[in-house]
Amino acid sequence: MSLSSTLYAKAQSIIPGGVNSPIRACKAVESEPLFIASAMGSKLYDVDGRQYVDYVMSWGPMLLGHANPRVHEAAKAALDAGASFGAPCPAEVDLAQKIVDLMPSIEMVRMVNSGTEATMSALRLARGFTGRDYVIKFDGCYHGHADAFLAAAGSGVEVQAAPGTPGVPAATVAHTIVLPYNNLDAVKEAFRQKGKDIAAIIVEPAPGNMGLVLPGPGYLEGLRAVCDEYGALLIFDEVITGFRWSLGGAQARYGVRPDLTTLGKIIGAGFPVGAYGGRRDVMEKLSPCGPVFQAGTLSGNPVAMAAGLANLRELEQRDYAALEKRTGELAREFADIVRSKGVPVQLNHVASAFTMYFTEQPVNDMAAARTSNGKIYTAIYKQMREQGVYLASLAYECTFTSFAHSEADYELTLNAARNLKF
Ligand SMILES: *Cc1c(COP(=O)(O)O)cnc(C)c1O
Repeated sequence: MSLSSTLYAKAQSIIPGGVNSPIRACKAVESEPLFIASAMGSKLYDVDGRQYVDYVMSWGPMLLGHANPRVHEAAKAALDAGASFGAPCPAEVDLAQKIVDLMPSIEMVRMVNSGTEATMSALRLARGFTGRDYVIKFDGCYHGHADAFLAAAGSGVEVQAAPGTPGVPAATVAHTIVLPYNNLDAVKEAFRQKGKDIAAIIVEPAPGNMGLVLPGPGYLEGLRAVCDEYGALLIFDEVITGFRWSLGGAQARYGVRPDLTTLGKIIGAGFPVGAYGGRRDVMEKLSPCGPVFQAGTLSGNPVAMAAGLANLRELEQRDYAALEKRTGELAREFADIVRSKGVPVQLNHVASAFTMYFTEQPVNDMAAARTSNGKIYTAIYKQMREQGVYLASLAYECTFTSFAHSEADYELTLNAARNLKF
């Protein structure tokens, strides 16, 4: 038995499902998780000594690659000065300034410890600022696991959402409206019905949690206009897109200015960091300068702040356009190889992320994403992993490249793809 299997068996007896986040259990792809011993650059090394080219990159954070020396030096130096103070530290100010400089719409920013905390807090702030309760989210967008976002879509342009998991009271999602992504008419209709009670729209500007889906022409601009018309706030959840679509995130790339932005993943370079920020008049409603409460014992942690700052400084030196071009080439070649074996493939790509869907129809929303053949993805996942290529353990995820991926990695990946059998 492999060491991974032994650990998994033990883990299942003391950790629910053997994992601390469900997707890691690899159930959707009918596999067991690999336990990872270490990571370096574009590679993961499992506890059985096998090497993998990593296209998960910790679900997005490791845009520079694993164990970047600059990031690690900064984190180690910070750690030697103390792990946590529960008081302000200089690195918080430096990272906040860097974020304000990079993200077009962020005038003030508050640090938290995860993407979930960022979105949950941004929603509370939007509700506190507007004095309204309703929030619009989109089917297939993921905003972390706070109760208000764990809502399942009603049928059609239904306004009332149902709890998305046991443990969420119906009352908690009673003010959550779930609509299809990329459908501006549905948003306008919801605002016609409930406009003066809607605090905010929260949206992944280019969703990365139904696989990768791109906003249609005018869609984000349309959301902005509707929010302006009704006095609601537009929240861009840039937990994936922030610092990956461009240094200024999706908002810089698409030229649409949200009122609030949530950040996570890349911002901490692998450490548990999230942040939310935006318009000064909105952010100043936060305690202690305003009435809306939000707090965190470990928020602004000095080690995480130092790592995050080193990460962003290093990213500023990198060639995003070159990575995007190379990622696009890889994605197209990969898709062509799969197509050549008789499988229909829809490819969505932007920046250093792509998703293949195994369906005949273009994928612009969750309903289309659901038509993708999951069995094909499972076959690809298993056979690629067997050949040393580590893909996401769920079809509805992005495949991420990084600045650490090499030509040799891409070659190994495409060769493995050529061996796929369906
Ligand atoms: C991952 C993710 C979150 C949640 O972040 P966590 O750090 O896992 O809590 C929120 N929004 C989006 C868009 C994400 O991809």
